[in-house]
Amino acid sequence: MSDLPDDFNCTITNWEYIYGLCRTVSDQVKRAEFEPDVVVALARGGWFAGRCTCDFLGLDDLTSLKMEHYVGAAEKSDEPTVRYPMPEGSVEGKDVLIIDDIADTGGSIRRAQEYVEERNAGEVRTATLQLLRTSEFDPDFVGERLEEWAWIVYPWNFIEDMIDLIAGVMERADEETFDRESVRHYLAEYHSVDRIEMEIAQPDRLTEVLAEMERREVIESRGPDQWALAE
Ligand code: ADP
Repeated sequence: MSDLPDDFNCTITNWEYIYGLCRTVSDQVKRAEFEPDVVVALARGGWFAGRCTCDFLGLDDLTSLKMEHYVGAAEKSDEPTVRYPMPEGSVEGKDVLIIDDIADTGGSIRRAQEYVEERNAGEVRTATLQLLRTSEFDPDFVGERLEEWAWIVYPWNFIEDMIDLIAGVMERADEETFDRESVRHYLAEYHSVDRIEMEIAQPDRLTEVLAEMERREVIESRGPDQWALAE
């Protein structure tokens, strides 16, 4: 999220919604009569999808690949690389379904497919729960195609993303201290996070996120319901 522009829209999701997308992808796999032997879930965003897909499809072989864009000092490389090599024999001769949460450029899942194919897998197909129009790679199975680019806040990293978003708006807004209302205000202004949508997707989480930001020393308390970025 760190190399995004100041203003970008966010969509906050919840478990039920994302679980529904896992079901949609699995239904597509079944309709295509593709019967993978193993699911490769891309770390970290693809793990929940990988596990649920195994359940929907009746598979017990689940493994992982971690794709990374980063080389050295937070410099983004164009070509994603594999962080941890796959254990010998994980995919040889097997039909493989590679799954991730979302594709933006599509580079990660495309590279993952090449990597798996180089390891003498059988048939290799790909899936993402969501697909942005920016993606140059079209997975075989897609839960949902997003018309507008947005940062999707997934339930498995809700706290991590909200901390980044809130710290970002605090840095940008010209205020000494923030209360819950002003945090909500700036989330709406800079990232179109609608208050009601957030409460429907993730009810009563703001206090928890602020407490966690304090614990991680991202912000510090300046009195009741008042916080500032930590010095
Ligand atoms: P790609 O290689 O398809 O461009 P990225 O490298 O941009 O994918 O993204 C890698 C991971 O970063 C994704 O699997 C996802 O977990 C996260 N990510 C990327 N774009 C978004 C987004 N718009 N919303 C939420 N998460 C994202």
